[in-house]
Amino acid sequence: MKRLAAIVVLYACVGSASAEPKLSAGAFAQDITPTHFPISVNGNLADKKATSAHDPLHARCLVLGDGTTKIALVVVDSCMVPREIHDAAKAIAAKKTGIPASHILISATHTHTAPTVTGVFQSDPDEAYVRFLTEKIAEGIVQANSRLAPAKAGWGSAKEPNQVFNRRWKTKPGAPNLDPFGGQTDRVKMNPGYRANNPNLLEPAGPIDPEVSVLSIRTADDKPLALYANYSLHYVGDMPPLSADYYGVFAEVMRRKLGAGDRFVAMLSNGTSGDVNNVNFGGPIPPKRGVGERSRLVAEAVAAAAAKAVPTTFRGDVSLAVAEKELELKVRKPSAEEVRRAEELLAKAKGRELKGQAEVYARETVLIANYPDTVKLKLQAIRIGDLGIAAIPCEVFAEIGLGIKEKSPLKRTFTVSLANGYNGYLPTAAQHALGGYETWRARSSYLEVKAADAIVPAIMELLAEVAR
Ligand SMILES: [Zn+2]
Repeated sequence: MKRLAAIVVLYACVGSASAEPKLSAGAFAQDITPTHFPISVNGNLADKKATSAHDPLHARCLVLGDGTTKIALVVVDSCMVPREIHDAAKAIAAKKTGIPASHILISATHTHTAPTVTGVFQSDPDEAYVRFLTEKIAEGIVQANSRLAPAKAGWGSAKEPNQVFNRRWKTKPGAPNLDPFGGQTDRVKMNPGYRANNPNLLEPAGPIDPEVSVLSIRTADDKPLALYANYSLHYVGDMPPLSADYYGVFAEVMRRKLGAGDRFVAMLSNGTSGDVNNVNFGGPIPPKRGVGERSRLVAEAVAAAAAKAVPTTFRGDVSLAVAEKELELKVRKPSAEEVRRAEELLAKAKGRELKGQAEVYARETVLIANYPDTVKLKLQAIRIGDLGIAAIPCEVFAEIGLGIKEKSPLKRTFTVSLANGYNGYLPTAAQHALGGYETWRARSSYLEVKAADAIVPAIMELLAEVAR
């Protein structure tokens, strides 16, 4: 651990040790649409198969340099990308560009209509696509790096509070609230339906973060080159697979709004949206909408806020800094009794497909029982001027992101979820106590109950390092 700390300090110092920084930037949208079908699509309990692509998927890449330090920011149209793919893609890109792997931030958008690249519930990774995706992400970084040219940057934020709603609702004491392990102790329900139809709903169990943050890049002669945005919304999900979901629509709307050319690349990273979606369960039941209509509405609204957040002044003397570290956390292992119960359920289902939550989570219980006792998470912080970016490999709850923003030593900060790996949901310990889908033990939620209490201080340390 001591050696790791020394490395972190070194990285953090590189950016600020240089003479007057001179910003350069290059961007590239790498197509990552698979070339073979059918292909597995995760994002639900049951697996789905896509037979075509409704719209193309991309790994959107932005490389920045300040004359001393180079970084790459990549946003991938995928539901969740495991550590192995991130590390392999970074290693290839590092070799070909000289950008250190530790200076590359790759995150998944969380579109629920992309090929499976990590095992989750009843979906297994498509190995051919895993290899394809790894190479394409690296290729995208190489392309963006080859386009490096003098540039200017500006950053800011605006609010779009109308597209985000906390999806976990507290339920009345005694309301039926069965979990997949046979327990009845949950006091919240995820996606509970509209309150108009459900008298057991009390109130949302947590906050939302309405901020749309942007890092906007222009060429030396002030033409839009790239825009990296961040918004804390889980996904929209009204398009058939394969689809980049509203993240892809946002990229096109942004180009139009900024009057940008073909080489302009916009990308929307996922903020802290582990408990936040686009459905207002407390409001009136909305009319049915057509395919892609809601994605269009949400993308237009978020892009309008992003356009408002683009500052009027841009500067080329922007310095960069990066710090990252590994944090070892415990896995929330099932008890012997829980494993016995799960095995019994699976024995009854032997020879047929698993049906319903109880059976699917029984399989997850057995899989987590075979996990190691601890896992290593990669945490990262990046500084661009006085803008901070925190990266966490989880589906982070909104209140955690709000806390990081508030406590950050940098003037502006946002958090990218599903970054540099995938380690499931990250609720606070208090949210764990309330129960609900995001806390149910599975490959989608397996970190120790107090994981956030270890991750947040580690992120604050990294932000302090890059802020120096
Ligand atoms: Zn999710």
